[in-house]
Amino acid sequence: MLDRYFIDSPITAERAVLTGAEAHHLLHVMRAARGSRVTLFDGSGYEFEAAVERLGRSEVELAILDRRQVDREAASALSLGVALPKGDRQKWLVEKATELGVARLVPLQTERAVAQPGENALERLRRAVIEASKQCGRNRLMEIAAPRAWDDFLADHNEAACRLVAHPGAEACASFAANEPVVVAVGPEGGFTEGEVTRAVACGWQLVNLGPRILRVETAALALAAILIDWKLPQNGFE
Ligand code: SAH
Repeated sequence: MLDRYFIDSPITAERAVLTGAEAHHLLHVMRAARGSRVTLFDGSGYEFEAAVERLGRSEVELAILDRRQVDREAASALSLGVALPKGDRQKWLVEKATELGVARLVPLQTERAVAQPGENALERLRRAVIEASKQCGRNRLMEIAAPRAWDDFLADHNEAACRLVAHPGAEACASFAANEPVVVAVGPEGGFTEGEVTRAVACGWQLVNLGPRILRVETAALALAAILIDWKLPQNGFE
């Protein structure tokens, strides 16, 4: 999975140009030469074999040699609503959620949540998604959605067949069918309020209990992702 580079616009022609951080990485970290082969991805699900044609000071022109669809997405699309933790733990959560195959992450605004990520913080998180996708081989980026207030988030997903709220001590045990899209919600360090939980249950969300210990936000989110994604494992393992 080394030497993967992300291009922020759909690759449709026989040439592509890397700019910004990606060009810097190829030029100054990997010290590419003319003719160097790399893999490009544009978030569309395709991978492109490319050869370096021209090295500029801050951009690299490449010739596209081959294009193939390579699907490394999870079997069931998982949307994760999460009241983001602070600082480094936020970026770490985004990196690991990308690796595990989460399709979409929605920062949640809840009654007890601390400050929400602003536009700059969201951009940094989107950059973390790209870095993680380069490393883990994903050809579709995990979407980092705009922050949503709790009641709007509940309303957004009225149609989803499987909707789960992680809540310590919940008695209900969630059930769901294979391969259907799943939406899960994880609360802030202070937890969801009883009112928030009651409103979710009234809208048809199921509560999930992750055991008798209180997990940090990122642990609960990643445990759920690990449990729910690809849970129908192929008999002979992954190729
Ligand atoms: N003090 C809070 C704990 C919050 S932990 C309380 O007692 O409710 C942060 C979030 O992680 C919770 O809102 C919940 O969504 C999730 N979480 C943590 N531990 C969990 C557990 N054992 N079961 C289910 N969800 C859990």
